[in-house]
Amino acid sequence: MTAPTSTPGIHHVTCIAGDPQQNLDFWVETLGLRLVKRSVNQDDPGTYHFFYADSEGNPGTSMTFFPWEDMSAGKVGSGQVSRTAFRVPEGSLDYWESRFDDYGVEHHDRVERFGETVLPFRDPDGLPVELVETEIPDDDPTEPWTEFVPESNAIRGFHSVTLWVADPQPTQELLETMGLENVGTEQAQGDTPGDERTRFAAEGPVGKYVDVLPTIEGGRQGHGTVHHVAFQTPTDDDQESMRTAVRKEGLNPTAQINRHWFRSVYFREHAGVLFELATNGPGYDSDEPLAELGERLVLPGKFEGRREQIESNLTPVEIPRAESTPEQ
Ligand code: ZN
Repeated sequence: MTAPTSTPGIHHVTCIAGDPQQNLDFWVETLGLRLVKRSVNQDDPGTYHFFYADSEGNPGTSMTFFPWEDMSAGKVGSGQVSRTAFRVPEGSLDYWESRFDDYGVEHHDRVERFGETVLPFRDPDGLPVELVETEIPDDDPTEPWTEFVPESNAIRGFHSVTLWVADPQPTQELLETMGLENVGTEQAQGDTPGDERTRFAAEGPVGKYVDVLPTIEGGRQGHGTVHHVAFQTPTDDDQESMRTAVRKEGLNPTAQINRHWFRSVYFREHAGVLFELATNGPGYDSDEPLAELGERLVLPGKFEGRREQIESNLTPVEIPRAESTPEQ
């Protein structure tokens, strides 16, 4: 008998961007996340892969991007992660609204959702992102990065992703198979289609929620869209039992692929959203010291031997640096 599957929550979310410098400036300076890894797409080493996270690169905190400059703008729609939400401390949305005004960031009115306050905004490629005020306990597993944003307001990992799907029921059943619990449905509001938002909760506390919204609006992959969402399967055994469970649902997961900082299994869920299962180790500090994460271009395995050629094909970028530490 196999053990019932479960997941602590989201592991990482990977998106498509345009200009790599613009992406770095926004996610590091404006949002205050730490660049914990600067690498290349392992299936397309001519493209960067940037990883933005908390100060330690903890599971449930990393937002990653492929800046595919030649690709055109995408359209958020059915079969995609339509919204990616991050946790911020209670009372910090005033700070964020005024920061967004200072930096010219497009943001919308706050909405109340499942008793929490949400601030929707867009990154420079039009990617829809949200900040959700959340109680952050003293022993929270995330460690804020405070180079650009003080700890009292800093992003503390993922809150949730919202899936837009044409037919919600098979997706909802899959989430339950993966160990998430249906915690309720409420009227959708804000800049979303459909009228019912159903929330599923993982163990948490980081990256705990997946919301499902029905929509028939078509989507197209490109700048400003999510490529895939990864869920934590902390160990290889956890991953294999989750893999077996989704196979029994009639889905077609890949074999395990070594992604160097974690090991991954991929599959498309029933509505077409690309899901990944990722182990929590070895972690972003397995190949460079914690204090130096993101400083250099890291080329995993076979790519190191082609460093000169790979580097010469990449657009040069500069990591934003704070002139002084912000006041706490
Ligand atoms: Zn991934």
